[in-house]
Amino acid sequence: MTRGACTRRPDLPWTEDAHRVEDEIRAVMARVCTGCPVRERCRRYASDTFASAGFWAGGFRGGAYTGDLLDLLAELDTTELKEHYEPSARRARSVHRKALAS
Ligand code: SF4
Repeated sequence: MTRGACTRRPDLPWTEDAHRVEDEIRAVMARVCTGCPVRERCRRYASDTFASAGFWAGGFRGGAYTGDLLDLLAELDTTELKEHYEPSARRARSVHRKALAS
């Protein structure tokens, strides 16, 4: 069975919250992920299960999203998710713009 490269580096904070991990350590973790034989499966699992914390496939998940939801949706590769969330994201943007204009 092929295992994740992170299993050989239990010294790294794979399940820690992003804000607690220094940039240098993140870079080491990202390098471990770069050579991981199950990286794509890891990325897909984190995405499919909406993992909201921890380090997966080269990056931390979780934390407050401060950008525009429509920009975030544009980056998603899951059509079903886009179709589900896009209408409410458009409504939220419209309400936000009206509130700013008033
Ligand atoms: S890609 Fe996933 S399984 Fe592989 S080392 Fe990174 S966190 Fe571990």
